[in-house]
Amino acid sequence: LCSRRDEVSPAEEASRMYGSPAPTIFSKVIDKSLPADIIYEDEKCLAFRDITPKAPVHFLVIPKVQIPRLSAAQDGDAELLGHLLLVAKNEAKKEGLSEGYRVVINEGPHGAQSVYHLHIHVLGGRQMTWPPG
Ligand code: IMP
Repeated sequence: LCSRRDEVSPAEEASRMYGSPAPTIFSKVIDKSLPADIIYEDEKCLAFRDITPKAPVHFLVIPKVQIPRLSAAQDGDAELLGHLLLVAKNEAKKEGLSEGYRVVINEGPHGAQSVYHLHIHVLGGRQMTWPPG
């Protein structure tokens, strides 16, 4: 594939910014080598349904660049992080979650993060409880 010299792929960008985090299953969702139920995509991010839904509506919003976890985010990611939240609320609206929903980022071992590619969970379609487990 021929690309302009000043264009960097998400993988190259991640490597420059965050070292070389090990690719995750979400890398394959991004490059479409693994099928996913994608509900939104733009140049910066992707939203797709969680494969093991914990609510009637459960989707994930991920950046295409592999920020491994929230704690690895940098000041320069402010606009991207804001964008992910706006996509989350726009898709929640499209999914009909007019009564509200839960937005979650699991961070690291104590946060029960299992996939080390930053993702925002959006869960809805039922009454949530607090505190979470
Ligand atoms: P975490 O525990 O916050 O890291 O969440 C990872 C989420 O990714 C879990 O809710 C998984 O069900 C979900 N997941 C893992 N593999 C896939 C996949 O291939 N497609 C969609 N969702 C996935």
